[in-house]
Order: sequence, then C-alpha cells, then structure tokens
Amino acid sequence: MKAIPYGKQHITDEDIKAVVETLQSELLTQGPKIAEFEKAFAEYIGCKYALAVSNGTAALHLCSMALDIDENTNVITSPITFAASANCVRYCGGNVFFADIDPITFTLDIKKAEELILSKPKGFFHGIIPVDFAGYAVNLEAFKKLADEHGLWIIEDACHAPGGFFIDSNNHKQNCGNSHYADLAIFSFHPVKHIACGEGGMVTTNDEKLYKKLLMLRTHGITKDPELMYEKHGGWYYEMQILGYNYRLTDFQAALGLSQLKRADEGLKRRRAIASTYFEAFKNNPQILGQSGVVDGHAYHLYIINTAKRKELYDYLRTKQIFCQVHYIPVHTFPYYQKLGCKKGDFPIAEKYYDECLSLPVYPTLSKEDQQFVIEKVIEFFK
Ligand SMILES: *Cc1c(COP(=O)(O)O)cnc(C)c1O
Repeated sequence: MKAIPYGKQHITDEDIKAVVETLQSELLTQGPKIAEFEKAFAEYIGCKYALAVSNGTAALHLCSMALDIDENTNVITSPITFAASANCVRYCGGNVFFADIDPITFTLDIKKAEELILSKPKGFFHGIIPVDFAGYAVNLEAFKKLADEHGLWIIEDACHAPGGFFIDSNNHKQNCGNSHYADLAIFSFHPVKHIACGEGGMVTTNDEKLYKKLLMLRTHGITKDPELMYEKHGGWYYEMQILGYNYRLTDFQAALGLSQLKRADEGLKRRRAIASTYFEAFKNNPQILGQSGVVDGHAYHLYIINTAKRKELYDYLRTKQIFCQVHYIPVHTFPYYQKLGCKKGDFPIAEKYYDECLSLPVYPTLSKEDQQFVIEKVIEFFK
C-alpha cells in the first residue's frame, strides 16, 4: 500500500532543468533569477512590488520590522494559523492578541476583532494580521474599513492562498496578497504550499516606501543606492543604515519558484477540482462537516473536514497509509503563549474547531484513484 500524504510538492523535469541551469551559471545568489521571479510573481498576484526572501517566516519578520513593531506595539491575529503569523510580532518585542475565529470560514472573526479593539482604550492597537486560512480569501475590504477606523495597519498572511481571491463591494476581483486593502502581504514557498522553492518566501506590497525599507532589511540594512547614501567613498562603498538580516533567497531557489509559478494556475485548478470532489462525496453525510462548502476564490491549500470523531478517524486513516494532518493547534494554547498570559478556554470556537478538524490530502498530483481511495476509507470509517 502506498502512502498518501496530506500535501506534496510537484517537481517536473522542467523545474530540475531550470535549477541545474542556474547552478551552472555565474551567480548562485542575488543573480537574475531573483528579479525575474519577483517580477513574475508581482504580475501573477497583481501588485507593484514583490520581494523574494528566504522563507515565509522571514517575510513576516521583515514586515514586522518595516512597520516598526516594538514592545509598545499591540497586534491582533487569529489563533488558528501557523505559529509564525503571531511569532513575527514577538520577534520585534510586540504583543500578540488573539481574537476568535468565525465558525463557518475558520478565519479571524472580524466582529470578534472589533470587540477586542473596542474593549481597550483608543490607540491601544496598531495592527492586524488576517490569515487566508486553508486558502479561503479573507474579505480584506472589511478589515481595511475596520483598520482605518482605528488607525491600524494590515499584514495579510497569504501563505495558503496564491491564486485565491474575493470579490469586493465594487464587484472587483481582489487577489490574495495584492495589497489593495493591506499594507503588506506575505507568501511561503515551503514544499507543502502551492509553489515550492525548498525554502522560500515573498513579501508583496504597493507601498514604495515600505518596499525600499524591506529591500534594505533583507540584506543587513545595507544600501548601495547612491541616492540614499550619506557618504560616497568610491565604487566599493556601501552603507549599513539600519539593523537588518540576511534573508535572501538563492538564485537557484528562485529559478525553481519561477518554473513552478508557470504551473500555478494548473495546480490551483487541480486543487479546486479535488476540493469539489470531496465536497460532493461528503455533502450528504451529516457526520462530516467542512469549511463553508465550495467557494470560487478558495485556493485550497487545505481541504478540511470537521468531525467529533477526529482522533479516531485520523488513526484509522493512518492504518490505511493515508497521512492526514491537523491544522492547526490553536496558537494561544502553546506553552510559550500561555506563559505570556493566554489561557485554554480563551477562544472556544477555535478550540472546538481544533478538536474536530482534519486536513484531507490535497495536492496537484493526487490521482483520481488515490482520492477515491481516501473518500472510500473516510466513508467506511463512519459506517
Ligand atoms: C507556512 C506558513 C508560514 C511560514 O512559512 P515558512 O516558509 O514555513 O517560514 C506562515 N504562515 C502560514 C499561515 C503558513 O502556512
């Protein structure tokens, strides 16, 4: 019996060729592939600037620095996300506040976020980090309205949603991460995400000032731009002006990302088809619930079902070599965040969601037969 994981990268001969060609070229890092990947990604998402970085967490950290998060900064995010969405605030010494999730979309509940904002003095909060959880595009127009009312910035964590979108009130399609309503957005190119670089990430924005700051922060806070430098000593001269990091992506990773990006729409189509097959298979089964049925703009990084028998189902599927996963353990319940004052019971909807959620296999190369096998075993379990 072959193993079926919940997610998996898809590497083609063309991808391998692109990487090998870059390995045989002059520049292994900061070469032409980085700029090409950034330009192509910005076009794909529909934003002005894209900045390739070493991973999605680095992208979040750079955004936090670009927005000057410090120990006086208070930020709201969802408890149902990968820990990095919250950790980035802590890297800069800022304070994380969680608000509960919406019971239907499992994304940050805007009403709960608003209640939290109103429960504190005016000016207490500085930013909000919504997450396009599982690939479900958050309505950022609504979040932008809330953010503007209270003077907050927005970082969209779009790691799950390249190619996802929502329709705004002007009937315009807004791609996840296009930064139309957010200040900054971030993506990850971890192999389990839509586009694989091995490790890799991207920041997207339409804000030139933030982009220029991010450029410097990605490389130690160093600039070589003659217009920005205080002094000029000669051709060798560069200036370190702020404290940055080395969060660069290598050129061969960018070559892989660029090659993968060409197939992004194909992969997305396949993910949506898989999701719709699951939905049809389970829709009449009252024991299996799911995330808001099938939604047009959903990017389906994950296909999640909810059942009171989650643990038993997880264990049963493992005996059939089907390796599902749980996304996510609520971030506020981790010992680290409990030490900071969070408590189990703080966010009952998130915690109930966690008790019942299971991510079924979704990836472009999941064959029809393998998906049918998964469906069969899930239904068998409930009989
Ligand atoms: C994967 C992921 C990240 C972190 O990306 P890495 O590239 O693994 O550092 C952040 N947020 C979310 C929601 C993710 O899924």
